[in-house]
This record gives sequence, structure tokens and C-alpha cells, in this order.
Amino acid sequence: MATTSVDIDRAAAARAVASAIGAVAVTEVALTLMEALLVCVPIVALAGQSLTASGETPRIVAVILVLLVLSWMRAIDRVRPVLAARAAKLRGQALLPAAEDAAQRAMARAPLEMALIRWGVWTTVGIGVGVLLAARHLLAWPSAVGVACVGFLHAGGAAAIRGIAWERMLDPVRQKILPNLEPLRAFAAGYRRRLCMTAIALVGLGHAVASALIAVFTGLTSVQAGTLLALTVPALVIPMLIWFRSLARRTVPIEHYFELAIRRPTSRGPARDDPAAVAAFRSAQSIPYRLAVYQSLACSVAAVAVVAVGRRLTGFNTSIAGRLLGAIGLMVLASGLYETLLLRDVLRPLLAQLGSRHRLPAVDVRSKLGLRRKLMLFFGGVIVLSSGLVLLFALSPRHGPAMMIGSTALALALALGLVVLIVRDLVTPIHALEERADEMARGELARPVPPSGEADEIGRLTFAFEEMRRALRDKLRSTESLNIDLEREVRRRTEVLEQRNTELHEALEKLRRAQDDLVRTEKLASMGRLVAGIAHEINNPVNAVINTLGPLQDCIHQITAAATPEKIASAVVDAEEMLRVVQRGAARSKAIVQALHNYSRGDESVPRELNLSRSIDDTIDLLRHRLKNVRVEKEIDADLRVVGFAGQIDQVLMNLVTNAAQAIGERPQGGTIRIVVRADHGEAQISVSDDGAGIPAEVLPRIFDPFFTTKDVGEGTGLGLSIVHGIIERHGGRIRADSHLGEGTTFRIWLPLRPPALESAIRSRS
Ligand code: ADP
Repeated sequence: MATTSVDIDRAAAARAVASAIGAVAVTEVALTLMEALLVCVPIVALAGQSLTASGETPRIVAVILVLLVLSWMRAIDRVRPVLAARAAKLRGQALLPAAEDAAQRAMARAPLEMALIRWGVWTTVGIGVGVLLAARHLLAWPSAVGVACVGFLHAGGAAAIRGIAWERMLDPVRQKILPNLEPLRAFAAGYRRRLCMTAIALVGLGHAVASALIAVFTGLTSVQAGTLLALTVPALVIPMLIWFRSLARRTVPIEHYFELAIRRPTSRGPARDDPAAVAAFRSAQSIPYRLAVYQSLACSVAAVAVVAVGRRLTGFNTSIAGRLLGAIGLMVLASGLYETLLLRDVLRPLLAQLGSRHRLPAVDVRSKLGLRRKLMLFFGGVIVLSSGLVLLFALSPRHGPAMMIGSTALALALALGLVVLIVRDLVTPIHALEERADEMARGELARPVPPSGEADEIGRLTFAFEEMRRALRDKLRSTESLNIDLEREVRRRTEVLEQRNTELHEALEKLRRAQDDLVRTEKLASMGRLVAGIAHEINNPVNAVINTLGPLQDCIHQITAAATPEKIASAVVDAEEMLRVVQRGAARSKAIVQALHNYSRGDESVPRELNLSRSIDDTIDLLRHRLKNVRVEKEIDADLRVVGFAGQIDQVLMNLVTNAAQAIGERPQGGTIRIVVRADHGEAQISVSDDGAGIPAEVLPRIFDPFFTTKDVGEGTGLGLSIVHGIIERHGGRIRADSHLGEGTTFRIWLPLRPPALESAIRSRS
């Protein structure tokens, strides 16, 4: 399987490389045809007859072919590392550093080298043809020099076009082979070369078209044309030198920025608002216009000088000179306009990089030429160019349909080319903006808005858009981080709350246990107090029984020993009487023990239906020793039953009756405790009233507080009423105390007959 997939990879790689070679071959053929057109056609126009007469044409063509083949061999040799690297990448292999270096070097050098080789080839051809024909006296020397100059000048333009074409061809390959190469670094390595090549290409092309126009519209002789061409080369040297100097000077801020950003970068590179970036942006923005203006002015001056000197040397008339200047002027204008647009193209990536890497204040980088002026300039240029060509045609002494069609086609082609470039420059950034606006509307704010290039109206709109995107993204981020913080805080608080909740639960549980303990303790304490009284209570009937048992035994002896029936009968009556005493004593003891048993029952965990009447009887039974001088009045609904914890309800009653008894105290006149149990609006109401001392108004609010007592040590713990309160609450009921000092106190309790809280416990039990 692995072998098959490698084979497939290899096949795909081979196909891709073959198609790349095919594309290069097609481009090469097109470029060579263009060179032939630019160089050979003017040479043939100048020296066609002489060439035919010399009979050297086949040899010259053979020499040209040999030179071309040699240059192609060199080209293949040059791009071999690039093709090898591309093939390796296509196979998915990692590039060795040496191979990477070789590919990078080849890509950097190939365009210029190819251009220079071809320039050399065609210049040699031009000079060779000129010298050959002049040496054989087939061509006048001025024309021969003209031929050589055409070779040099037009070949220069063609070579520059070749260089640009190769750069464009290699750009995507570079990105594929060296994806990590920073775009800015790649740009810095070649932008000046590209600017120069663009300018040279335009000079060459402009000169070629101007030569064609001159040949067609002026009717100069071969010698006159040759002389003018010969003068052109030195005349153009000065403007080109000025142009190169101006380029070097104008790119200083850009080079300074590159120094900071890529050549000798500090640890963090230039800051976002570095002034070097602003200066670089401004200079990159103005370079196309300034250089185009320099070139146009310098070429115009050179053209005037050439025409003036040429006229003096060859003596053509003023009208020819005028048409000459007109044709040259139109071409200077055309090449100036094209140069502006094409140089802008070269520098656009830098402007985009600067715009996306730095915060450029719109005021500082604002383009001096607004969109309106630019459009007027370009479209004005287009109008002047086309009408100028028509005028040139009209002024020409030679009219004809072919010339009319030719000049119209040229005017249209030049105008159309300009319009296409201008429209593209306008539409592309607007289209990009539209795309980004759509993305932003969908909430995708991560990708920066690509700067359109110059800071004209569209450029500034892009800047504003980018600012807006950044602001929105930052806002969104801060909102998101705020949300995250909030969520984290909520989570933290929730955790704290949960922990507190657990602690509270534990505390509540502890409290419940403590409360249960308290209830038990209080119950034990009251049991202790009870036991003392009850021991005394039980003592009386038990004493009565014991004291009766002796006489009863005697009585039984009398019955067995008695002789007469009268004596037996009287002894039986006595014995029966004594037995009733014993029975009463035993019954009383049993009642007390039963009450005690009821009171102390441990069935606390399960609620049940209980009879309040019996609970009250038991309580009074157990407290009888405390109720010696107390009259107990009861008004009890015997059928009333409530659901609850019987032991706890007993404890409530015990506490209330004990407190009432204690409030009546040891008063000689005694007192009354009145216990009422009745149904009240679906609840059981229990009230325990006494006519004891009463509770002072300031004490009344505190009586349910735990450990609040007004009694002496040993008498009270202060827990009774607080426990009563807790028990009543647990049963879903309520308690109220009313008291008047010196008149007595009434405790009223309302208990639900079937407390909802306890219902479920009862149901689960049944
Ligand atoms: P203790 O009886 O152990 O003192 P309680 O909580 O049962 O504790 O009672 C708290 C206080 O309420 C008592 O000390 C007493 O001052 C007052 N009190 C309770 N019941 C009565 C009553 N029937 N008459 C007068 N005072 C009472």
C-alpha cells in the first residue's frame, strides 16, 4: 500500500512539474515573440533592403537561434533547483537547507539574469547587424548606429518585461516552496528591482511605439530616423540616471523601515505606531506619481533636445518636427500614466503590509491626491491620448484606411488598457471591503480588513473599517472576558455557598441533636423531680396495703378459728373491708406506675394518634404530689384526637402544669388550675390557666428563651418553655401566653389534628 501511495505521489509530482514546465515554455515563446516584434521589426523597417541586399539574413537568423537556444539552456539550468524543490514539496518531502538555499537563490536571480542575457543577445544582434551592414557599405553609418540603438533600447524594454514576467511566474512558486518566507522580506528583496524593470519596460515600449508612429506619420528617411535613434540613447541616459537617483532617494524611508523591521530588527520590531512606518507609507504612496512625473519631464526634455539636434543634423522641416514632438509627447504621456499605475501595483503589497502591521494616523498618511483628482488625471490623460492620436493622424500627410484603423486601434488599446487598470484599482478594494463587511456582519472579526493601498478616500475608508473591526473585536473580547470572569465568580460564590450550606446543614443537625439532648435532659430532670414526689405517692397506698395485710391475716385466722356463725360473718365483713383497702391501694399504685410508664415511653421517633384526655389524666396523676392545695378543673372533649409524638405532648403538658403549680406555690388558700381541651376551627386547642402570681410584662417576652428562668437553682432550668415551644412548632402548631400580674397566667396551644409534616411519616408506617 505504502509503495502504491508513494508511486501516486511521484506521478502527481511529475505531472505538476511537467505542467509548470509547460507554462514556462508557453511564456517563453510569447516573450520571445514579443522581443522579435520589438527588436526585429524596427531593424527590418530601418535596414530591410540593406539586409536583403547583403544576403546575410539566413546567417543572422541562425546566429539569433543559436543565441536563443544557449539562453534557454542557461534558463533551464537556472530554474533546475526551483523545479527540484517544487517536485520534492509535491512529493511531501522536507527540503534540505542546501536545496532550500539553492531554490531561493535561483528564484531571486533568475528573473534579472534571464532579462540581462536576453538584453545582451538582442543588443548584440542590433549592433552586429548595424556594423555588418555599415562595414559592407550597404547602410549609412547614422542608420547603422540607429539599428544598434534600436537593438539596445527596445531589447532593454523587452528584457524588463521578461524580468517582470519571470518574477510573476516565480511568485506563487516561491510561496509554495518557501511558505515560511515572510512576505515583507520577500518584498524588500526585490521591490526596487521591480520598480526599475517596470520603468525600463515602459521606456522601451514607449520608444518602440513612438518610433512606429514617427515612421508612419512623419515620413523621415532612413538616415534621418537612424540619426534620431542614435541621438536617443545618450539623450535617455540622463533622464534614466535622474530617475534612478530619485528612486534611491525616495525609497530611503522605506529602506529605513526595512532596516528596523527585517534587516536589523530589535527584539520586538517597530512599534505599532512607529513613525518609521508612517514615513515609509507616505513615501511608498507618493513614489509612483513622483517617479512617473520625473520620467515624463526628463523624457520630454530629452525628446525636445533630440529633435532639435536631429533637425540641425539632418534638416527635416518644422511640420515634421512638430509631428515628431507630438508623437513623442503622446507616448511620454501614455508611458507616464501606465508607469504610475504599474508602479502603484508594485508598491501595493508594501502599503497593505504597513497598513495591517501598524496604526497609521489618517491625518499623517492622507494622500495628497484625492480620488477625484486621480480619476480626473487618468481619464483626462485617456482623452488627451486618444484625441492626440486622432489629431496626429489628421495632420499626417499620408492618409489611408490602414493608417486610420491602425491609429484608432492604438488609441483604443492604450485607452482601454488605462481604463482597465484604473477600474481594477477602484473595484478591487471596494470588493474586498464588501466581502469583509459581510464577514463582520456575521460576527467574524478575527481577519483584518486588507488595506487597499494608498490613503485616498477608499484607503481611508479601509483604515476606518479596520479601526472599527479592532474596536468591535476588543469590545467583544472584553465582554467575553467579563463573562468568563462573571462565570468564574458565580462558580466561586456558588462553591462558597454550597460549602456554607453544608456547614449550615451540619450545624442544624448538631443543633437538632443538641435540642434532642436538651429535651431528654429536661425530661430526665423532671423525671428526677417526679420520682421524689411519686415515691411519696406510691408510699401511701403501699403503706395502706402493708398495714392492712396484718389485720387481714388476723381476720382470716379468726374466721378459721371462730366457732359461731355470727363471729365468722362479722370477721368476713371486716376481711372484705380490708380487701377493698388493699385493692384501692394496689389500684392506686398501678395507676401511678401506668402514668409513669406512659410518660417515660420511648416511642419518640414515630408519630401516632393520641388521646389528649388520657395524656392530661396521666400528667395530673404524676403531679398529684405537687397539686396538694390545687384544685384542678378539666373541661375536655374526650373524643378529640391529634396525631403527634405522644411523649413530647406529655412533656408539654407536664411542663405547663408544673409551671402553673409552681406559680400557685405554697399559698395557704391554694389555687385553681383549669385545663381546657376543645376543637377550634379544625384544630385542637389546649389551654392551661392558673390563678397564680402571673408574669411581669417585661418578663413575658422572654419566657420562651432557652435558659430563661426566674426560679431558684434546683427549682428551674429555664428550658421548659423553650422546649415546649420547639415541640409545638415541630407539630406544626403555635403557642401563646397571656398573663396579668397577680391574676394568673394562661397558656394556649393550637395543634393541627393531623399535622401535614407528620402525615407522611404515619402513612409510611402504615
Ligand atoms: P423554668 O420553669 O425552669 O424556670 P420555663 O421555661 O418553664 O423554665 O419557664 C420560664 C419562666 O417563665 C419561669 O421561670 C417563670 O418565671 C415564667 N413562667 C412560666 N410559666 C409560668 C406561670 N404559669 N406563671 C408564672 N410564671 C411562669
